Amino acid sequence: HKNLGKGDAIAFSPALFEEFQHDQIIRDGLKHAMATKELSLAYQPIVDVQTNSLWAIEALLRWQHKDQFISPAEFIPIAEKSGRINQIGAWVLNKACEDAAQWAYPTKPAVSVNVSSIQLLDANFIQIIIDALRNSGLPAERLHLEITESVMLENGELAQSQLKKIADLGIHISIDDFGTGFSSLNQLQTMSFDIIKIDRSFLQDLSKRDKTIISATKLIADEFEACAVAEGIETETELEVLKDLGIRYIQGYLLARPMPNSELDDWVNKYHNKNN
Ligand code: C2E
Ligand code: MG
Ligand code: MG
Ligand code: MG
Repeated sequence: HKNLGKGDAIAFSPALFEEFQHDQIIRDGLKHAMATKELSLAYQPIVDVQTNSLWAIEALLRWQHKDQFISPAEFIPIAEKSGRINQIGAWVLNKACEDAAQWAYPTKPAVSVNVSSIQLLDANFIQIIIDALRNSGLPAERLHLEITESVMLENGELAQSQLKKIADLGIHISIDDFGTGFSSLNQLQTMSFDIIKIDRSFLQDLSKRDKTIISATKLIADEFEACAVAEGIETETELEVLKDLGIRYIQGYLLARPMPNSELDDWVNKYHNKNN
């Protein structure tokens, strides 16, 4: 349990027992999730509102365990703790690259894959990426890797050198949930990145403060010649505000919910017909 020192007594409460049992069930389930084909990817478009075109598509992991849908927000942290994340992450990367290599959309959208800090720091990670690109035939510049800034805090030097190797392959690096980590801005001076994803929490009420933070983030992105993406756009009002603030790349339920690969063709056709 969290924050327990050596020798601390724990009252083994029913709630704690349930939490333990729950984690155990997820850990066991994940052992077989790949073999039993319970894992799949959902894809959510990211569009360029300047050209009204499809720019990238984020891969989001889905787990249908027996009759239950378990959220990645719930099982990813457990997969990280149990050491299962490297194996799952490699599966995600290979599947996403395979699917993306088959997308026949004229704007050649990139596929954006979430990467856990444990994967990033793993010694085999670079080779896993190289293999995924080679096996799928996807060009490196059509792969975006999303990482969260908190990884730079601990293991900063290792993370940095891994990111440098990834950037040298021609892959674009995206900072996910920007501004929510407890990081300091000076990490940006040393880390390689091409894309900043502004977290949905900065669109809460679109107050003056929210707008100031979004504008400042846009400025930072511009100065570093990085793209600014706003995630979690749900309403036309939010979209208009973000456009006014100069944010060019947009993702959210307003445009599309995450969907199976098989539904992307229809979505792209409809989006194209509406905008051209
Ligand atoms: P994230 O990468 O920041 O992804 C954005 C989350 O917001 C996704 O939740 C997405 O479905 C959801 N979302 C998208 N548009 C909207 C919107 O307009 N409104 C709202 N309220 N939500 C929106 P999801 O799919 O449940 O994923 C949660 C988190 O789990 C992700 O956050 C990411 O950190 C993690 N995750 C998902 N797939 C993977 C994966 O393959 N590997 C790793 N390491 N992490 C993953
Ligand atoms: Mg993401
Ligand atoms: Mg995010
Ligand atoms: Mg997140």
